[in-house]
Amino acid sequence: MAHMIPRSADDYQPVDWQSDYANAIKDPRELIDYLQLDPNALPYQLSPNNSFATRVPWFYAELMHKGDPCDPLLLQVLSRIDEEEVSPKYVSDPVGDLNAEVVPGLLHKYHGRVLLITTGACAVHCRYCFRRHFPYTHSNPLKTELPRVLSYINDDPGINEVILSGGDPLSLSNERLRQIITSLEAIPHLHTLRLHSRLPVVLPSRMDRDLLDSLSATRLKVVLVIHANHAQEISTELVLACKTMQTAGITLLNQSVLLKDVNNRVSSLKALSQALFRAGVLPYYLHLLDKVAGAGHFEVDRQQGLSLMHELRKQLPGYLVPRLVSEVAGEASKQPVI
Ligand SMILES: *Cc1c(COP(=O)(O)O)cnc(C)c1O
Ligand code: SF4
Repeated sequence: MAHMIPRSADDYQPVDWQSDYANAIKDPRELIDYLQLDPNALPYQLSPNNSFATRVPWFYAELMHKGDPCDPLLLQVLSRIDEEEVSPKYVSDPVGDLNAEVVPGLLHKYHGRVLLITTGACAVHCRYCFRRHFPYTHSNPLKTELPRVLSYINDDPGINEVILSGGDPLSLSNERLRQIITSLEAIPHLHTLRLHSRLPVVLPSRMDRDLLDSLSATRLKVVLVIHANHAQEISTELVLACKTMQTAGITLLNQSVLLKDVNNRVSSLKALSQALFRAGVLPYYLHLLDKVAGAGHFEVDRQQGLSLMHELRKQLPGYLVPRLVSEVAGEASKQPVI
């Protein structure tokens, strides 16, 4: 599903997803400029030099509204000075991932399912990401550790689902994904393959024919959990990609993070659920922000989360209401917020 991405007004050319992926915006000033914003009249300050680099695919930038410095998509990817704020409540591994690592890159926290960090790479860098400090270079199993990962899963018949995560697993090539899927489907007690990816949202061209073919050819039941936080992220291209995936028998769910100034209003959460439904995607989780250092300015407290949910339940059918959860290190599942 190649599409046309304008690099500039007079430079349209068809590109494949790899070049879309590589050609991301890496300088916040370029994004500001593209959105026709005055860098000296922003209602916030930019972060001068940030260890978590800027990365925004052009496709995603095009979904933003020009001239609006508080665009809900822009705020998710623009490094503001608030990221420098240090608070003892905000730490580098808020969800205890490193304690759940059973083989480098393989997290076994919950019964029946394991999560595989397939790559550290993402198409977009979300400023609130709880993995922004994760030591990916040490926990990238696919270079050397795949045999150990496979033998761990093979030795535990209680595991029936593998979640490919990251980073973003769809950053990998189709060929690499196919190798991983082939190794996994050879393990008889596995019946579900889940992918957690933001690529369908930020770069729908990633959902190409070849990927669809691999996902529909496997004997494993495939679940794709996309990650959209705002209705404005549900593009025509995403809807088309989702329709194709649905036809291929893939179960489509969405997870979001509750983010201050992005989606912490009943109207935005409602519009998001409705837009997802039009794309054939059901809302799954709405996460309270993980307290990762550098993301404090996105916090919505539990009380506001609860009252938003209360209102949302009144306005939507039950199947369009996501579960509000938080991740508590050491717990046996994500914790419902009640
Ligand atoms: C979130 C998560 C899962 C999946 O949890 P579900 O409730 O099944 O969606 C599995 N493993 C880890 C380490 C996770 O963080
Ligand atoms: S795509 Fe996901 S893993 Fe990557 S930066 Fe965004 S939230 Fe984090």
